[in-house]
Amino acid sequence: MVDRASLRQCLHCGRLVPVDRVQCPNCREALPEVRVAGRAAAAERPSEIRRGLLAMLLAGVVHYFSGGYSAMNLPYPINPVITVYLSPMLFLSGLGLVVYGFFTWKKD
Ligand SMILES: [Zn+2]
Repeated sequence: MVDRASLRQCLHCGRLVPVDRVQCPNCREALPEVRVAGRAAAAERPSEIRRGLLAMLLAGVVHYFSGGYSAMNLPYPINPVITVYLSPMLFLSGLGLVVYGFFTWKKD
């Protein structure tokens, strides 16, 4: 996933390189890891929320296909345990992760 288009200047040659690179593409010098500290990082939503939402989405997709709600027929039978227990459990754990991330985010 490339969602960071921001650039920074290389310490060695002065060219602009993407922030997530660990090696300069121009002069091949190793670049120090830069972590954005302070309020900008604190204001960012914690990764728990993003991961929780992803888990909920995945659970929804699994439930949709394994539960037979889609018009598409799966080429192999799905164990009903997945539909009855696993996908709701994944959904609830994702929800819990979102709630946890939200409250730890709002606290500070
Ligand atoms: Zn360089």
